[in-house]
Amino acid sequence: MAQPIRHDWTRAEVAALFALPFNELLHRAHSVHREHHDPNAVQVSTLLSIKTGGCPEDCAYCPQAARYDTGVQAQKLMSVDAVLERAKAAKNAGASRFCMGAAWRSPKDRDVEKVAEIVRAVKGLGLETCATLGMLNGEQATKLKQAGLDYYNHNLDTAPEFYGEIIHTRQYQDRLDTLEHVREAGLKTCCGGIVGMGETRDQRAGLLQTLANLPEHPESVPINQLVQVEGTPLSGTEAIDPFDFVRTIAVARIMMPASMVRLSAGRQQMDDAVQALCFFAGANSIFYGEKLLTTGNPDVEHDRALFKRLNLHPMEVVEEANTVHADILETDAGSCGHGCGCSAAA
Ligand code: SF4
Repeated sequence: MAQPIRHDWTRAEVAALFALPFNELLHRAHSVHREHHDPNAVQVSTLLSIKTGGCPEDCAYCPQAARYDTGVQAQKLMSVDAVLERAKAAKNAGASRFCMGAAWRSPKDRDVEKVAEIVRAVKGLGLETCATLGMLNGEQATKLKQAGLDYYNHNLDTAPEFYGEIIHTRQYQDRLDTLEHVREAGLKTCCGGIVGMGETRDQRAGLLQTLANLPEHPESVPINQLVQVEGTPLSGTEAIDPFDFVRTIAVARIMMPASMVRLSAGRQQMDDAVQALCFFAGANSIFYGEKLLTTGNPDVEHDRALFKRLNLHPMEVVEEANTVHADILETDAGSCGHGCGCSAAA
């Protein structure tokens, strides 16, 4: 019998899942996964940074924060034509969803107007659209929905009690408020977090508890592994044990059975065996950044080979659902290194 979708997880229940023997946890997660998903299908999403760097926020993991010296060159919002050109390339590479990220604390109304124009144009190509622009108010979310936006990404990053150690320029409640505006506007949500930032296992449980107890489970749940970037405060943090990362995927799968659990930032640093364990534990989505739009990227070649070795296949397109098909893996397109793990890079 399929597991019921729950929104009332207690911290003790989540902690008990994390504490299960590894094989027991993976067995349970994989069983839940099979009840809701094709265990051999993996969704592929793409991302373009449409406005890079210069962000006033202080997220301790993020190279796009203006206050850290990370070598990221700030770039203004791209023009509609420039984005459209990249979106066409993504479509030609087989993508059916196009995600656009902008490093803002929260966009001004005039920024939203410009992004709405971009969304309309990308939508006109027949692509699904996703955006991550920072905090939104209700009116802005509605404007984007009216322009044809399908998904909005806004990560919770970590547990409520650890949030203040990572970000000081906004509150956890700000994130929850934006998610509410997004849901109320009728947009689908993409929302997850980052592990390996020095949090405890119980704080990892706290992130998943908060995500699963939202009024609706996010359609996509990106679980990022911190990519340590020199110049950011989290550079030098002790790395997470890979098995603890796999545990996080497994617990996410059990708690949010119908969501797409996405391996996102940090995947390129993972070895193949850990990725394979993640797919078994319930990850069924991977993320490419804008390098997908360039050709001959060795990371994509590597992923194609890994898919073959594991007999995985790209997920088929389903109308009005949270899928992206990925002939991408059968093309010469390149893959992503974008992945500061930031909220602007789901
Ligand atoms: S994660 Fe997003 S909000 Fe935080 S500094 Fe980076 S771009 Fe800005």
